[in-house]
Amino acid sequence: MAEYLASIFGTEKDKVNCSFYFKIGACRHGDRCSRLHNKPTFSQTIVLLNLYRNPQNTAQTADGSHCHVSDVEVQEHYDNFFEEVFTELQEKYGEIEEMNVCDNLGDHLVGNVYVKFRREEDAERAVAELNNRWFNGQAVHAELSPVTDFRESCCRQYEMGECTRGGFCNFMHLRPISRNLRRQLYGRRPRRRSPPRSHMGHHPRERHRRHFPDHRHGRF
Ligand SMILES: [Zn+2]
Ligand SMILES: [Zn+2]
Repeated sequence: MAEYLASIFGTEKDKVNCSFYFKIGACRHGDRCSRLHNKPTFSQTIVLLNLYRNPQNTAQTADGSHCHVSDVEVQEHYDNFFEEVFTELQEKYGEIEEMNVCDNLGDHLVGNVYVKFRREEDAERAVAELNNRWFNGQAVHAELSPVTDFRESCCRQYEMGECTRGGFCNFMHLRPISRNLRRQLYGRRPRRRSPPRSHMGHHPRERHRRHFPDHRHGRF
């Protein structure tokens, strides 16, 4: 019996533990879920809830009409956001193995940022400190997340560009960063060769400042 329970733990057959919380670290029923959300007491992964704001979802003029934000602008805004958060967290708390951002629209997933540190102690310290911080004018909500394998939690159809559930899908729609930024952030790992700086073009920080003059409010 115990073996059976262990084998179904966190799967859809498990009537006690919520499979969505277990795999994705967030479930649309939140605290009202009929199954258990087993919050981890230690984990390499933290989640910063609703941190990323996609300007295509939030851009509205004063009269309520939507203003147009091009895909290129959104990608640039996203890359800047990703780089800022990644760099700052890695400098403050320790090496990051991977960071992923949800582009879903459902309240429990929208803008969630998952950061998997190499060491559990770093994740623990990050959660404790980040909950006292503000980002872009809102209080940061950080918690330890049960997610460790993002292949289990992400939507495969989305990656192939064919998820029919759109933004309200309950699996992670992980927004990709541009190839250059990926190389810049993950490329300088010891196991790989770091790219020569001259190939990186103009420094992204400068771009950032020009586009976000009120950026000083945005820092952690
Ligand atoms: Zn649940
Ligand atoms: Zn999907």
